[in-house]
Amino acid sequence: MATERTLSIIKPDATKRNLTGKINAKFEDAGLRIIAQKRIHLTKEQAGKFYEVHASRPFYDELCEFMASGPVVVQVLEGEGAIGKNREVMGATNPADAAPGTIRAEFAESVGENSVHGSDAPETAAEEIAYYFSGLELVG
Ligand code: UDP
Ligand code: MG
Repeated sequence: MATERTLSIIKPDATKRNLTGKINAKFEDAGLRIIAQKRIHLTKEQAGKFYEVHASRPFYDELCEFMASGPVVVQVLEGEGAIGKNREVMGATNPADAAPGTIRAEFAESVGENSVHGSDAPETAAEEIAYYFSGLELVG
């Protein structure tokens, strides 16, 4: 499988509980390299643009409020099949369905406040990385 890059976000529920290091250890233990990372505080508008694909869903407004409620850590993860591997390490969207040992099983508080975001396909990964990082910030 080819080397891929994917966009990861450690969400406000997790930064608030000081879990950045524990979550990063899960990525690194799975063989994913954190090749770019920054802690930022999104506005609701910036969160809304990022999650635009969900604009018609009932949870959209609450999701944007939540993503703007505190700092997030945006990251680029790199590795063999990184997009799928990251989704595995994250676990299912709803922590009640997440496999044991996954980030969401261990740390998520609810289906909304579920600690991490990860891109779901090569096209979205490229778009999402470009939303947060310039080429100059990706040093490999
Ligand atoms: N979400 C929510 N309620 C739902 C489904 C999703 O609040 O019923 C939130 C949750 O934070 C999730 C995000 O919207 O991570 C994006 O949803 P998606 O279906 O893309 O899940 P993901 O790719 O994050 O697993
Ligand atoms: Mg998604």
